[in-house]
Amino acid sequence: MKKLGHWINGQLVDGTSGRAADVYNPATGEVQAQVDLATKAELDDAVAKAAEAQKVWGNTNPQKRGRVMMALVGLINRDMDKLAEALSAEHGKTIPDAKGDVQRGLEVIEYCIGAAQMLKGEFTDSAGPGIDMYSMKQPLGVVASITPFNFPAMIPLWGMGPALAAGNAMILKPSERDPSVPLMLAELCKEAGLPDGVLQVVNGDKDAVDAILDNETVQAVAFVGSTPIAHYIYSRATANGKRAQCFGGAKNHMIVMPDADMEQAADALVGAGFGAAGERCMAISVAVPVGEETADKLRDALVPRIEKLKVAPYTAGDDVDYGPVVTGAAKENILRLIQTGVDQGADLVVDNRDFNLQGYEDGFFVGPHLFDRVTKDMDIYKTEIFGPVLSMVRAQSYEEAIGYAMDHEYGNGTAIFTRDGDTARDFASRINIGMVGINVPIPVPLAYHTFGGWKKSGFGDLNQHGPDAFKFYTRTKTVTSRWPSGIKEGGEFNFKAMD
Ligand code: NAD
Repeated sequence: MKKLGHWINGQLVDGTSGRAADVYNPATGEVQAQVDLATKAELDDAVAKAAEAQKVWGNTNPQKRGRVMMALVGLINRDMDKLAEALSAEHGKTIPDAKGDVQRGLEVIEYCIGAAQMLKGEFTDSAGPGIDMYSMKQPLGVVASITPFNFPAMIPLWGMGPALAAGNAMILKPSERDPSVPLMLAELCKEAGLPDGVLQVVNGDKDAVDAILDNETVQAVAFVGSTPIAHYIYSRATANGKRAQCFGGAKNHMIVMPDADMEQAADALVGAGFGAAGERCMAISVAVPVGEETADKLRDALVPRIEKLKVAPYTAGDDVDYGPVVTGAAKENILRLIQTGVDQGADLVVDNRDFNLQGYEDGFFVGPHLFDRVTKDMDIYKTEIFGPVLSMVRAQSYEEAIGYAMDHEYGNGTAIFTRDGDTARDFASRINIGMVGINVPIPVPLAYHTFGGWKKSGFGDLNQHGPDAFKFYTRTKTVTSRWPSGIKEGGEFNFKAMD
């Protein structure tokens, strides 16, 4: 049985806790590895070593830190195939999708090559007589990133890039479901010239997370995962005086106006609803057609597309649309929720509850499902299913449609499909959701913009990547300096405004 340990001070080490979690091959249902789960003592030791390493790294000039990022870009590109294969083997997503996962992370590392530009302070010449004022952006020290299973390359890279380029050391606590790629990325960081100890990968579960939250040296915590855990981590980290950004779950609505190109909208919905088996925080899980005629046309366009989807392991060829979900527990939960939809009166238009893939009977495959006439009170509408299930909610007007998205507790992403600029503009302006697509179903912002949801999809006030990330991973110090010319004056005791 393959054993996965931790990455401490530039090398792989075995865990000492005696506790480990199973890592599955989701296509076969077999356990393919075991990952060590760290204790509080192991976590605290990793942090102490990181704090030592950070003293030197934080004083390394930002251009040199940028060069490490530049080398990392080359190495990730070199190992793209290897990384994607390891990612698919533990997560289950297709190889092109796994490459997308690595690529969207890589783009943030590319952005971080310009760290020196992002870290420049402000300067005011002659703020008063002989007085200059300037600000510096300094690293926080040791920071931590706790990441989910669904993007095991992208989300660790979104944290590592800006945190390390800004001069911090980082404790990365990846998901215990698919820990191999984060360990491989740590190895590439070393090859790129990152000093030992600056990035520590500590595998673990709640024990390791709680140890991060209670460790006094850790200055900031970035979390991405489900909403209940995001809220818990935000509360405990901030109560302990740490900076925190915690991103949670989602229920993303796509509004389809009567004037939309229905074929285009259906193609977009199938990709955004079923890609990666629906295990994306930006997946569209609710389609909201406006008007009965639009709903009927959309349903007619969706059904044949969904019935044609090829669900298979990533090894089954280039035409696989999506693979298994991550664990047996995830599969059971998705099927349970589908059953509640039927029991609560939704119309299950595409029903694959008995889906079984020959030769992979023990794998965690879930066939695609489409519900129509879903209403607000149903569990399948209120809950994030995180599986290949698309719900259709029929709205009679644009106002009713926008109301669904506005009233939902989640606010990660949303989209509108229309040919009318005025409607699209009104939607983008009024909607209370962090990321909006206009005729774009999955509006994930590029590396130089920022990524973050509103409402219960995000706790904290700065987003991931882009300029916000450099704000999150630095603190500002403002210096007022006075160099009097000529004869020194006597002491000045009054708090003075600038003349
Ligand atoms: P999860 O919340 O189960 O786990 C995320 C991390 O938290 C993991 O590292 C895990 O080890 C840790 N964790 C789990 N339970 C914990 C506990 N009780 N105490 C402390 N730590 C704990 O999430 P997941 O299943 O890995 O990922 C899927 C979720 O992540 C979905 O809800 C999805 O929408 C969300 N997600 C959100 C974004 C975003 O940017 N908003 C991006 C990707 C995924």
